[in-house]
Amino acid sequence: MPPDPRGRSEPAASNGIPDIIKDMSAEVVDSNPYSRLMALQRMGIVENYESIRDFSVAIVGIGGVGSVAAEMLTRCGIGRLLLYDYDSVELANMNRLFFRPDQVGMTKTDAAVQTLSDINPDVILELFLEHTTVKGFETFVESLKRKSSRMSAHCVDLVLSCVDNYEARMVVNQACNELSQTWMESGVSEDAVSGHIQLLIPGETACFACAPPLVVASGVDERTLKREGVCAASLPTTMGVVAGLLVQNALKYLLKFGKCLPVLHIFSPSLLFQGYNSLKDFFPTMEMKPNPQCSNAACLERQREYILAKPARDAAIKAKVDAEASSKVTGPIHVDNEWNISVVDDSEGQSSHSDISDALPQGLVRELPSADGYPLEEPGPSFDDLDELRRQLEALNAA
Ligand SMILES: [Zn+2]
Repeated sequence: MPPDPRGRSEPAASNGIPDIIKDMSAEVVDSNPYSRLMALQRMGIVENYESIRDFSVAIVGIGGVGSVAAEMLTRCGIGRLLLYDYDSVELANMNRLFFRPDQVGMTKTDAAVQTLSDINPDVILELFLEHTTVKGFETFVESLKRKSSRMSAHCVDLVLSCVDNYEARMVVNQACNELSQTWMESGVSEDAVSGHIQLLIPGETACFACAPPLVVASGVDERTLKREGVCAASLPTTMGVVAGLLVQNALKYLLKFGKCLPVLHIFSPSLLFQGYNSLKDFFPTMEMKPNPQCSNAACLERQREYILAKPARDAAIKAKVDAEASSKVTGPIHVDNEWNISVVDDSEGQSSHSDISDALPQGLVRELPSADGYPLEEPGPSFDDLDELRRQLEALNAA
């Protein structure tokens, strides 16, 4: 029997809270909460923005990243959110976004529903307390399979993991491998200055057990790393960046915009893992293929299925590419050119620089420093070959 969610948002009362809106409108009026989102469609970024209401997203862990991700998806008008967390709101959480001091003592899921249903009563919210215990795991798997009574077509479309420990991630990994469910993993480091997101498509990309984190691969028990009395650091900035990256990729995945590969999913392989180092503003990316020796049996099963389906998948991709190529428009994109806009050749633009006069633009009385007044740097010695460079370095070291 499918488990009942513990709660669900009720239609908002008429105390200044918006009413439920049946259809998303693109009408540009101050009272329309969706006008700026529907503009994505008008501007050609998203083909069908309103389809966001057909999607169900599960967020596991409603902490510093998960709560912000939930708010972003709620404001974007997602159809249904399933929220999982066993924890309560504490004053120690106030350095992060989302929760408020008056919510201290409430469960994070209850507090989240209170805020999210006020922001957008159109979103269906379902709450679950636990997913890591044995019973919790069964409930978790069932909840991902269950369709909403208000949204007939879809089970969960995407799972976002926003938990803070390895064990909880492995539970999400197990459930998603068993269900062949695409998910995205996120995390923020204990020193609060770096983070990552990762896309996991069972069978196609590495699962969480295919490439365990270094600490796990080296055989160290993660729990022994948590020193008594030493709490992990956290910054609302890093968590906000990671939540933003996570939800941006979730939106691209669901609404199919951004870089679209013929592999029928929207990520370039190099974007399967995205890191973030805030100290250097560095975003390393890497491709993570599944490990044929993965310890997770369900992962191996999904890998086999993926390989078996390859010929049919390749044929479908080829047919799609051929169809697109044959339907390509060869004429001008815009027949009318009311404003006489023309494309200027880059080289033409560069050559016109020599025509710039010394006269100051109208209204500008002085220009400092004059660009022409800078002495040109003397060109340094050039090294035509490596031998010459090596000789010079050796001479320097010998001195
Ligand atoms: Zn695996």
